[in-house]
Amino acid sequence: MVSENADDKSLDKYEKDLAKLGNFEVASCLVKLAEKNSTNSPVLNAGRGNPNWIQTVSRLAFCRLVEFGVQESRRTINGKDLAGYTEKEGMAKRLRSFLSDSPADLFLSKALDYGEVNLGFNGDEFAAELVNGVLGNDYPMPSRVLNCTQTVINHYLASILYAGHDVKKLIDTTQLFPTEGATAAIAYIFNSLKENHLIAPGDKIILNTPIFSPYMAIPQLNDYRLKTIDLKSIESDHWQLKAEAVEALNDSEVKALILVNPSNPGSVALSTPTLEALKDAVKKNPHLMVITDDVYSTFASEFRSVYNVIPYNTLLVYSYSKLYGVTGWRLGVLGINESNVFDELIANLPKRQKEEVDKRYAHDSMDPENMKFIDRIVADSRSIGLYHTAGLSTPQQIMEDLFSLAHLVNIAQGDKDYYIKEACDLVDARYASLNKALGIEDFNNSRNTKYYSLVDVYAIAEKHYGKEFSSWLATHFDRLDFLYKLASRYGVVLMDGVGFGSNRGIVRVSEANLPDAAYPQIGEKVRKLLKDYFEQWKEEK
Ligand SMILES: *Cc1c(COP(=O)(O)O)cnc(C)c1O
Repeated sequence: MVSENADDKSLDKYEKDLAKLGNFEVASCLVKLAEKNSTNSPVLNAGRGNPNWIQTVSRLAFCRLVEFGVQESRRTINGKDLAGYTEKEGMAKRLRSFLSDSPADLFLSKALDYGEVNLGFNGDEFAAELVNGVLGNDYPMPSRVLNCTQTVINHYLASILYAGHDVKKLIDTTQLFPTEGATAAIAYIFNSLKENHLIAPGDKIILNTPIFSPYMAIPQLNDYRLKTIDLKSIESDHWQLKAEAVEALNDSEVKALILVNPSNPGSVALSTPTLEALKDAVKKNPHLMVITDDVYSTFASEFRSVYNVIPYNTLLVYSYSKLYGVTGWRLGVLGINESNVFDELIANLPKRQKEEVDKRYAHDSMDPENMKFIDRIVADSRSIGLYHTAGLSTPQQIMEDLFSLAHLVNIAQGDKDYYIKEACDLVDARYASLNKALGIEDFNNSRNTKYYSLVDVYAIAEKHYGKEFSSWLATHFDRLDFLYKLASRYGVVLMDGVGFGSNRGIVRVSEANLPDAAYPQIGEKVRKLLKDYFEQWKEEK
């Protein structure tokens, strides 16, 4: 690496090398620069979206289930550190009498009631799935998703994503595959789309940038070589899809549309007119495959998923990472409707391709022709040969249950989930204090998650120092100069908007990962750096 001194002559080269890296890799380099910043300022890394809070009660409940599970296991074999299998018969009753009146235990007992009363589970079946799941004493079975778990997660997704539309129908018809975070879901989806010839090199897919950068990077890889068409939503439209953009979907050569909703980094959920426009778009292009990544849904107070609007065409991706502060656990899920375009497209593949894929999945199914796309994703995720040991680890699946159940129990008691409100209030306050320090207005709208801000540095420059200065700033420096100096002088790490498909001069601030007090400071330091540039401009003039 070249010198990291801001005034070094090799700075240009360093910034050019930096610009070749992926977005998240650039941020890692900026963190290193920030650690040695020239003003000895505290490092404020608002680059990553990792939250700095956790949900407590489900974690504690998980531990209690482990304790109970060990006690249960000793009923069959009671060695020193060795115990046997659990027995299902009577387990719910024994679990209930094990529970005390601590908050975690009270939650567990409400969750058991919820399962039996609201979800219609047999008490022992449900208790045994939870207890054996946390003990991890058996391979995930069925491999795609545990039985009660699918119902629990479906009720959770219905509550947070469907805005009251078609709830029962979709709960009954949505098939789920819990995965190692949304990260794994995304990787699995692209791979299985390719293996099943649903996407091929040269195919057109559409993205709505600015978007989570992996969605820009993956299609370009040699593995896929897709042609991406960028719909480019913009801030003045509040990141909605433009009419021309929706028009672009009306082309049978466009195979897939990839959405992040609410968007990252735009952070605003799609509006009702946009959802309606997408509904019309699939009428005109009925074989369009839509992938929607809804990981930020709970941060918008008004939200309806594209999956809810066009379930036949849509593959849903969700992650617990952000809301519950569980990025280390790796908890995601993908969902597809029983009746869906992916299966239809596979059934209609040309003969030669169909024979090829039938042969591939014959290893895992006696009736490969009718193997659902979602089950193909499970098989592909373990390279076909390891289908019998596929599936997300059972402790992870139960952790997903426990977060889902905490939400379901909360809304059964009041009409709002107070935990979701606490998390939203946290990011909202940070968003407001950042904007105040930057001197920009809040966008207060029920669809704005406020999880990230996209800050237009040139616009702030123009507002405070005039247009001539801001044009100079925009044209005299490398793309990453501002972020480089912000890190190396003032210890503040932000992410470059260009990496997400935004215009130059736009930077992303995460409202998730720093203490509240950091946000006014970030605003001040951005302003300070702009002042430094302004001084330089005056001198050069
Ligand atoms: C954070 C994030 C993910 C990753 O989710 P994990 O479950 O932690 O893998 C996926 N998509 C978007 C849009 C994200 O912001």
